[in-house]
Amino acid sequence: MKFTELPTPCYLLDENRLVQNLAVLRDVARRTGAKILLAQKAFSMFSVYPLIREYLAGTTASGLYEARLGHEEFGGETHVYAPAYAEGEFREILEYADHIVFNSFTQWKAYGSLARAAGKSCGLRLNPECSTQPSDHAMYDPCGPDSRLGITIENFQPELLDGIEGFHFHTLCEQNSDDLVRTVAAFEQNFGQYMDGLKWINLGGGHHITRADYDVETLVHCIDYLQKKYKVQVYLEPGEAVVLNAGYLVSTVLEVMHNHKDIAILDTSAACHMPDVLEVPYRPPVYRGGEPGKKAFTYLLTGRSCLAGDVIGEYSFDVALGAGEQVVFEDMALYTMVKTNTFNGMPLPLIAIRRADGTDEVVRMFGYEEFKRRLS
Ligand SMILES: *Cc1c(COP(=O)(O)O)cnc(C)c1O
Repeated sequence: MKFTELPTPCYLLDENRLVQNLAVLRDVARRTGAKILLAQKAFSMFSVYPLIREYLAGTTASGLYEARLGHEEFGGETHVYAPAYAEGEFREILEYADHIVFNSFTQWKAYGSLARAAGKSCGLRLNPECSTQPSDHAMYDPCGPDSRLGITIENFQPELLDGIEGFHFHTLCEQNSDDLVRTVAAFEQNFGQYMDGLKWINLGGGHHITRADYDVETLVHCIDYLQKKYKVQVYLEPGEAVVLNAGYLVSTVLEVMHNHKDIAILDTSAACHMPDVLEVPYRPPVYRGGEPGKKAFTYLLTGRSCLAGDVIGEYSFDVALGAGEQVVFEDMALYTMVKTNTFNGMPLPLIAIRRADGTDEVVRMFGYEEFKRRLS
């Protein structure tokens, strides 16, 4: 039985799962009055923006292109933060963004008057220097030593706050609300005294709100507390939580071989289609797949690029894998489509959606042109 009749490799977004996540997020927004934005860095499948728009207040962007996409395809509020803006791009960002967050007082001094003249709400990204992530997560910790992300208390210049309407911090990654509470306490200790008269505070992303064990009540308390104490509008900008467990990458076995282990070569690639598997690194869940040795047949699942390390991991199955069999990677909506590349001339997976009624619809197919157009 095939998982999908569509050609593979194929990203398949599950509309029902997406809506389940969105309902959880909308509930938080309704209960607290907080505004929740989609962080497009994690997920930019704009064909479902009209659906997401029914639940969330807008989008946040890491620069010009995401800001433009959010403005064109999503609507609502468009927020932008970048570690540094390029002058040529900044003027165009002004056409799309409502909120602009600066990473330093130097950036604020360079671009603040332009942004304010264009009627934008300006904020500063601050670094509360409160690491709550496991130490093997340094890659994702904006509070780590030597971080360039956000203004530390040491670099804070209160005399330059005139015109600033909000503060922003983003320090979490796949974390629960207890870590948010710790971060808020550290933030208040350093910056609480400067909150008077601000209009908003943006708590960034990394809140794993739609995960089964996420403590929503603590999040709600935390938002209520901030809004009451400082009379500000709270924003959250989750990426992962919006599409957590809401998509698959469906692949097909091309070849099974043996070299110490049984090895299945798939028509996908970790390096090209799920680079986080190698970068983070992590082990994606596989539909009907178990730990090695747990089920009758164990395989090393590998990509078909020429990179020796294009290996997804070792999994076991109840049935033997042969050419033509589909292997389905789960939780593949986030940080996948936005990170693909055509290294090794690898074709890009098509993008599809599993509708609420169970039918699979192709949204977009790619071909040789995508490979060629980015080279010369
Ligand atoms: C990456 C990022 C997000 C989204 O993070 P998730 O972990 O996907 O929720 C939000 N805000 C900023 C500033 C980011 O860099």
